Amino acid sequence: MNKKRKLSERKRIALVAHDNKKKDLVEWATHNMNALARHELIATGTTGKLIEETLDRPLKILLSGPLGGDQQIGAMIAEGSIDVLIFFWDPMEAQPHDSDIKALLRVAVTWNIPFACDRASADFLMTSPLMYEEYACAIPDYSSYLNRKI
Ligand code: PGA
Repeated sequence: MNKKRKLSERKRIALVAHDNKKKDLVEWATHNMNALARHELIATGTTGKLIEETLDRPLKILLSGPLGGDQQIGAMIAEGSIDVLIFFWDPMEAQPHDSDIKALLRVAVTWNIPFACDRASADFLMTSPLMYEEYACAIPDYSSYLNRKI
């Protein structure tokens, strides 16, 4: 049976938005201000400053995405210190850190964390009752990979 990781009622939510999507994220965060107040927020540099101003509350702000912030979030997901990812990436423009974006999306799936990449999905996530109660999140079993014969 898979191991589980307990997500508490207060989730640790990472917020990231590319420049063309920052307005969307600010509007979404404003709309969801009360719901977000029940959780801890972590964000990449520029996104974090905007959300901090918008919601008038302190956030844990990491490096800017292209300077390593996406990788910091990925590392936090892998070590179990982020529960949910809201990542509004831009489908219409290549980014200097495309490889980091791909890695972040991959690590989110690797560790089975809930994540949303557009406003509709983020709305569905935030209105799920599981966002406000404890949840036993299955950790995928990588033992056969880890124990493989080299
Ligand atoms: P930023 O980074 O919040 O510092 O703009 C976001 C990103 O592009 O990954």
